[in-house]
Amino acid sequence: MAIPVLRSLTLKQAIHAVLAAFVIGFAITAVEFTWTASRERTMALARIEEAAALVEGPAATAAWLIDGDLAAQVLDGMVRANAGWAEIRLGDGTVLARREQAAPPMTLLGRAATALLFTDRPFLIHDLPAPAADRSMSAGSRRVVGRLAVGIDTGRAAAGFLAYVSAALVAGTLRNLLIGLAMAAVFHRLLTRPLLQIGRAVARIDPEKPYGQPLVVPRGHADDELGFVITRFNHTLTLLEQEHDELRRLATRCPLTGLANRALLLDRLDHAIDLAERSREPGVGRLAVLYVDLDRFKRVNDSLGHGVGDLLLCRVAERLGASVRRCDTVGRLGGDEFLVVLERVADGEEAAMVAQRLLDGLSTLREVGDHRVHVTASIGIVLHPMGPADAGGAADGAGLMRMADSAMQAAKGAGGNRFVFHTRDMTDRVETRLRLEAGLREAVAAKSFELVYQPKIEAAGGRLTGFEALIRWRHEGAAISPADFIPVAEDTGLIIEIGHWVLEEACRTATRWALDHGPVPVAVNVSARQLADPGFARLVEQVLQRHGTPPDLLELEITETVIMKDVRHHLPTLNRLRALGVRIAIDDFGTGYSSLAYLRELPVDVLKIDRSFVNDLPHAPDIASTVIALAQKLLLSTVAEGVETAEQRHWLAEAGCNCLQGFLISRPLSADAAEAMVMTAFACDEALPLTA
Ligand code: C2E
Ligand code: MG
Ligand code: MG
Repeated sequence: MAIPVLRSLTLKQAIHAVLAAFVIGFAITAVEFTWTASRERTMALARIEEAAALVEGPAATAAWLIDGDLAAQVLDGMVRANAGWAEIRLGDGTVLARREQAAPPMTLLGRAATALLFTDRPFLIHDLPAPAADRSMSAGSRRVVGRLAVGIDTGRAAAGFLAYVSAALVAGTLRNLLIGLAMAAVFHRLLTRPLLQIGRAVARIDPEKPYGQPLVVPRGHADDELGFVITRFNHTLTLLEQEHDELRRLATRCPLTGLANRALLLDRLDHAIDLAERSREPGVGRLAVLYVDLDRFKRVNDSLGHGVGDLLLCRVAERLGASVRRCDTVGRLGGDEFLVVLERVADGEEAAMVAQRLLDGLSTLREVGDHRVHVTASIGIVLHPMGPADAGGAADGAGLMRMADSAMQAAKGAGGNRFVFHTRDMTDRVETRLRLEAGLREAVAAKSFELVYQPKIEAAGGRLTGFEALIRWRHEGAAISPADFIPVAEDTGLIIEIGHWVLEEACRTATRWALDHGPVPVAVNVSARQLADPGFARLVEQVLQRHGTPPDLLELEITETVIMKDVRHHLPTLNRLRALGVRIAIDDFGTGYSSLAYLRELPVDVLKIDRSFVNDLPHAPDIASTVIALAQKLLLSTVAEGVETAEQRHWLAEAGCNCLQGFLISRPLSADAAEAMVMTAFACDEALPLTA
């Protein structure tokens, strides 16, 4: 940036230096002049006095004699000797004689100086003895007979001084000007020019990459203030660089393992995709993304603590890093999930080999701290480009990550400790699921669900014993099965809100039916997340109170697998629910692995025989009959689910099953249709007719 001359520091310095030189110079000159003028004046006065003393005698005589000619003679000589003027006055003041010598013409300045420096001074004639005519006075007495006034030609006297003053003024002005300019030049050289150099060097610094370009100290300024400023600047730049590096590291690295984080991985992936797409020669330049998830890592965390968990993650990070080439990238996505990006792999086989190497590397990890561990992982692999069918497929880093993730889920689903390649089908499933998730969120917000009610009847008499409330959801014009969307709601946590809505709706309906027709229990399905919620029992109590629902009209169905997965944890909630007076049923009984010991302790009322066992009736009745026998032993009632044929019904009734539920009795009904059934049941007070 060029600075205009008028604003430049050099000009400002020059003006200030010249002004300062002038002020100081003038002050010194003024003192010098005053002193010189005063000395000149004293000398002039001394000269006058000397001249007056010389003519004192003749002047007194002339005055005494009142002799004008004598007086004129005396004065002539005097004025000639001392340029100026002189006069002799008598005692009464009349001028006896006056002489003066014309002064040369003077400049205005000279005149002013003269007026200032010199004044006309009268000179007193010494007292003389009285003349003979006046002898009356005592001898020797002296009296004033006249006065001699003398003035010198101030113009001539001051001329020398004034010439000196003028010369001094001119010289002083020139000197001050030169000193000021010299000072400005020095300042410019010592300060302004180096400052400009520094400014230009700072302006050249690239703001994108300010580091690694320290400023150079101008020559000769290494140990002065400028050198200090530049050294400090460079030091601050270095500190900023270190901080910047640290921030960049934090923004791109996992703080625990030091591996690339998600942001850096995505960046690398996008670069690698670019590279892979640019070199689409067959067999060269394919990219493989491996999504690695440790199996049962949560268990390590829960049982050995987070410290050991963190240590294990660090070891895993080291093993993964050691199992790949230097040009490959290993990153941590969070938790126990890692991503490995392999560039330039020839084919799936090469990727599979690396995956196996990763699994083998992890299996050698046997100890973490003082603890023995057994580490396995599930790996999902996606190749890009995938193959001839996918040759034109566009992909981005996030998309590849998702695909590798779904393949990893498949590996996990198949039991873990393996790798699975991603297929087109997996992508479709992921996309369907994402759409489902988004739709479910909207449905939860809009409460656009419906409850249908499937009746349960006594196996022996056929009387209506209750209903199971089942949720229904229409999405994009199609009815979505709860078997499809309930797991998604579970994963996303939306089940809590959905479950709450179902509970409210079922209690409201049961209360209305009880008031309008008679008491009919309604069963509601409870999911794992709901049961795990510590506030669940309290919520049930509040809903019952809000709708004034008698607790025995509410039955909660919990699947066997959910209850048995963590019995100890669920027991307090189940006990609290039971204490409210709510009935508890174990749904899909027979599909899980119930511990018989626990079953005895559990506060449950009903076992619902899973549809798959009812389906086997009557030709394979073992499990159904075992469940019925077990329930009878434990004094629990049984409900057979999915009864579809008369034979099944007959067998179940004969075997002592208490209630039946299934398409043979009725498909799930709308609330209105179910209410009509309730009305009929109470009106007739008899067994419900069977529907096909
Ligand atoms: P579930 O609790 O075992 O419900 C019984 C399922 O069997 C229902 O399917 C019902 O329509 C079906 N079903 C009943 N009788 C027959 C039959 O004779 N033959 C056949 N083939 N099927 C029969 P749905 O309504 O599709 O529900 C599926 C599962 O979704 C339910 O199994 C339950 O676990 C879950 N679910 C349904 N509604 C809810 C809900 O409101 N909350 C929760 N958490 N889960 C629900
Ligand atoms: Mg159920
Ligand atoms: Mg069931």
